[in-house]
Amino acid sequence: MSPAILKIDALSKRYGGRLAVEAASLRLEPGKVTALLGPSGCGKSTLLRLIAGLDHPDAGTITLGDRILAGPGLFTPPETRGVGMVFQDFALFPHLSVLDNVAYGLRGASRAERRATALWHLDAVRLAERADAFPHMLSGGQQQRVALARALAPKPAALLLDEPFSGLDAHLKSEVRADLLATLRTAGAAVLVVTHDAAEAMLMADNLVLMAAGRIVQTGAPDVCYRRPATPEAARLLGEISQLPCQVSGGVARTSFGDLPAPGLPDGPAQAAVRPEGAILGGPGVRAQVVAHGFGGAFHEIELDREGQRLRLRLAAAPPPLGATVDVRLDPMHAAVFPMQG
Ligand code: ADP
Ligand code: MG
Repeated sequence: MSPAILKIDALSKRYGGRLAVEAASLRLEPGKVTALLGPSGCGKSTLLRLIAGLDHPDAGTITLGDRILAGPGLFTPPETRGVGMVFQDFALFPHLSVLDNVAYGLRGASRAERRATALWHLDAVRLAERADAFPHMLSGGQQQRVALARALAPKPAALLLDEPFSGLDAHLKSEVRADLLATLRTAGAAVLVVTHDAAEAMLMADNLVLMAAGRIVQTGAPDVCYRRPATPEAARLLGEISQLPCQVSGGVARTSFGDLPAPGLPDGPAQAAVRPEGAILGGPGVRAQVVAHGFGGAFHEIELDREGQRLRLRLAAAPPPLGATVDVRLDPMHAAVFPMQG
């Protein structure tokens, strides 16, 4: 299928009285990897099922290029959408060989042609020599590659992957991820990968979609979402933050640990979110006390106290001792100020 943009507009899905997905809108571009990140139960799998056509939306539209896949009174069945999916548990057919699993979704061509196409896709994930094996004979990482080959074989315009790394051992993840990314990029499809791991999402994706409680709270490039989160929720989804109550006056937020720019925010109480790398120790600043220490392997973690407010930081170098007083200055590059919620 030719490259096309997958557009989702104001898509909603209700289970019983609860909105699992609420007015979700996003764009997936050919050849780009988008990571969908959000806590468990926020609606990620539901959104994927809606896009794949495994579930009917209550409202909204899905279009691929100029084809409407779902909309008011319209529903294209999954097998003709041109949308592939890799399920969280891979969902391979246990009674079919690896080759037949990959050939399963191929239509039209002769059996010999289908097998040849399947073999080509197995070769692309370096599993051609296991073509006659059955899924239970393969490792988790190999099963995932079969599922990927199966999803890619019909040349989908869009590919959806639901938590593709959750079933894999931690030590395998980065290797499998690099492999998967290489395969995805050559396939040229618009890719949406679900994960609940922030670092994984940022490392993999050209774009992020941040989701919480059924709603998309922010979309954008990983570094933009990380540095300029749209909401405190978006900030928290991408990594740890220290929350500091503050007062805004004339576009400047005053926190216990010093000032931060808050352009455009109304005067009054607000909330600052500071990343663990969001402060500079030594040099000019305010004085704070080191009240906690931790060793995280590649970094040290410290907690500072000033006026009863806590700031948690990560340092590459050896930290000042517990109980020491240090000079600290906030780095606006790694901090954001939000209006009070509610
Ligand atoms: P995630 O994949 O982000 O963990 P899901 O999309 O699986 O979240 O679920 C979102 C919400 O919808 C949850 O509250 C879940 O319990 C509910 N839900 C999902 N699928 C169904 C279903 N088939 N029937 C009823 N409720 C469902
Ligand atoms: Mg899920």
